[in-house]
Amino acid sequence: MFKDWFDLAQQQLDGGELSREDARAILSAPDDQVIEIVAAAARLRRAYFDDTVKVNYLVNLKSGLCPEDCHYCSQRLGSEADVLKYRWLPQDGALEQARAGIAGGARRICMVASGRGPSAHDLERVAMIVDELKSESPDVEVCACLGLLRDGQAEMLKAAGVDAYNHNLNTSESRYGEICSTHTYMDRVGTVEKAKRAGLSPCSGVIVGMGESDDEVIDAIFALRALGSESIPINFLMPFDGTPLADTKLLSPLKCLRILALARFACPAAEIRMAGGREMHLRTLQSTALQLANSLFLGDYLTSEGQAAHDDLEMIADAGFRILGADEDGRLAPVVTHQPEVAIRRRGAGTDLAPNA
Ligand code: SF4
Repeated sequence: MFKDWFDLAQQQLDGGELSREDARAILSAPDDQVIEIVAAAARLRRAYFDDTVKVNYLVNLKSGLCPEDCHYCSQRLGSEADVLKYRWLPQDGALEQARAGIAGGARRICMVASGRGPSAHDLERVAMIVDELKSESPDVEVCACLGLLRDGQAEMLKAAGVDAYNHNLNTSESRYGEICSTHTYMDRVGTVEKAKRAGLSPCSGVIVGMGESDDEVIDAIFALRALGSESIPINFLMPFDGTPLADTKLLSPLKCLRILALARFACPAAEIRMAGGREMHLRTLQSTALQLANSLFLGDYLTSEGQAAHDDLEMIADAGFRILGADEDGRLAPVVTHQPEVAIRRRGAGTDLAPNA
């Protein structure tokens, strides 16, 4: 057990491993302790990542039309979500998107394609894009996210210059059958292991807010720890109309902070990313979440819009963090923050207009 949250953080800094009991304590802590949990976990974040935030940028190479049936996904088989659907972007189009992300501060480009897994031709397409991107921006990492990998495919991606492979576990093994019937949890684990064996940095995370219990959140985070996931995106369910989870709205901003803190305590040295759904679920606490997460996606997601990219950069600067790599190669001008003008009140008391209440 631990004396207080700072003692728990010190135990992790001393090489301890977070126990299930301690994990439960984080997720069930009362609201008035959350800020102390954040402050304690922030010590771990600072110890491993100082004041940096890694900015990632998603390029959706192929959107919608997936034969798999992941219940949370707007691109799933049978989805009636009105999202963009297109086959593979041409190479120039993909590069144009990636360049925009890099100009916006991204240190990692995440190349994503919907589908069960890549064909040999798909891998060739990705290899050509990566080749060009790496010759233009050798310091920028490329992460591929192309679904389940067959034997040998991870090695081909590695040889093409890909740095990392993303394949999320999404939830606990015990719950997996409730969110997908077309592949299994172990299929997903197998792909992360293939990526790792091929020398790709494993990126694997979760989606929370799908009705899972605290113990199931812990199962998923501990499974990622056991797998050695080096980047852990924490996604907060975005309930798309036209998907089975359309009416599932279970998260609060404080709950999201507890989950991010759990990920930080359990995997202190991993890149913890506040990923899809942060705007919707963390809301005004996004900036507080930077004390836990050292990574985010800039701008838009695969099929939904995020907050304006400039607002992401401004949030990072306002919270006293800096974008990883930006000052090393001078790619980015300092973020110009908005100083709103004073607006003279012309509504409410003394006017005929409704008050701002
Ligand atoms: S495999 Fe990927 S794109 Fe297809 S439904 Fe599942 S999450 Fe969506």
